[in-house]
Amino acid sequence: MAEVSEVVAAVDVGGTRIKAALVTASYETLAEVTRATPKDITADIGAVVHATVTDLLAAAAQGDRPVRVVGCGVVVPGLVDEARGVGMFSVNLGWRDLPIRYPVASLLGVPTVVGHDVRAGLLAEIRLGAAHGARHALFLPVGTGIAAALLLDGAVVSADGRAGELGHLLIDPAGPPCACGAVGCLEVIASAAAIEREYAARTGLAAGAEQVAVRAAGGDPDAIAVWARAVAALAQAIAATVTITGVDLVLIGGGLAESGAALLDPLREEVGSRLTFQRPPRLERAALGVRAGCLGAACLAWDAR
Ligand SMILES: [Zn+2]
Repeated sequence: MAEVSEVVAAVDVGGTRIKAALVTASYETLAEVTRATPKDITADIGAVVHATVTDLLAAAAQGDRPVRVVGCGVVVPGLVDEARGVGMFSVNLGWRDLPIRYPVASLLGVPTVVGHDVRAGLLAEIRLGAAHGARHALFLPVGTGIAAALLLDGAVVSADGRAGELGHLLIDPAGPPCACGAVGCLEVIASAAAIEREYAARTGLAAGAEQVAVRAAGGDPDAIAVWARAVAALAQAIAATVTITGVDLVLIGGGLAESGAALLDPLREEVGSRLTFQRPPRLERAALGVRAGCLGAACLAWDAR
């Protein structure tokens, strides 16, 4: 009989998908599941997380290593009160002041921590990925939405759960409306969803953001225009962050980073052109991809032990 492995259940609740894993103290993933985020998740987030962990245990039972869940980390987008375990506000999931830690912990019966998806993702990039050894960094995952996390002087900045809302930086006062109530935010110009929407509006064609990048490289003028606008908006936000904080490392993550050099090369150039006296940051692709949030949830759960 194999020895029982202690694991934490790490759950990343996103706007469209929930990604979850059972993770050992040495950050080995023993089981993984992805499911669609239920529309009514706000009604009973405890039950949703519990069902996800049940699926994880079923997946783990297929393997040859018996597991025991000793803690749980749940990360969510938006404004997060980490101390109280409450989701204060999420534009994409539509909640305000949603208790998360209490309902999850009472159903699972293990110590549970709640964190912010991107700050937790940065923690994972520091511990296991591309921010290893960094003292200052901006972690900028660009996917359905855009949020950011900052590492300054070796500490991940939280500001009562309110730091890093770079997706809602004003880029274009004449830009499209944003779900946050403002107009022309970075998120409605440069997120993967915004790129798709803008390309469809110009051409009537459905194409994912990655496809738009490919078409831009192939000379499609609409794709070139949409891509260039998104890159310029991201560069503006990055240059502003570098100016305010002095970060010397920028890690791009999320779905848009999948485009690799098609995104990073023009972005480096555009950021460079906006800086004068500032220290130019190293601009790289994050290492952990879409798993960053989930691994970050595991970091939080193990740190709480
Ligand atoms: Zn906004």
